[in-house]
Amino acid sequence: MTDTRAILKRLERSKFRSSFHLKQKDIDYIHAKGMDTIMDHCDDFIRARLAPSNLPNDGKQTPMKGHPVFIAQHATACCCRGCLSKWYGIDKNRDLSETEIRNIERIIGAWITKEMENR
Ligand SMILES: [Zn+2]
Repeated sequence: MTDTRAILKRLERSKFRSSFHLKQKDIDYIHAKGMDTIMDHCDDFIRARLAPSNLPNDGKQTPMKGHPVFIAQHATACCCRGCLSKWYGIDKNRDLSETEIRNIERIIGAWITKEMENR
């Protein structure tokens, strides 16, 4: 999952993934907080809700709204371990590595940046 551009292209070809977009209030929130703070939130979410293996609520841990990162997680298939397994081939029966966490955060950040540029 190192070629961010190729991954974003692949996601764009998915009808479901490409149906997610930031709403005006998400954009306003990002402008108000700044991208660094948004990515700090992203790091908290990924470590708490995605990194551990065998999460009891896997598939339901990422709300469909409430934070721009949640939208980005659905848009990038980084919403649950099931989707990470299907899209990126990451075994869901082990914790995510530091490298995987950083790759996921990079993909989410790139998707948010692209959304902001396309406004
Ligand atoms: Zn999912």
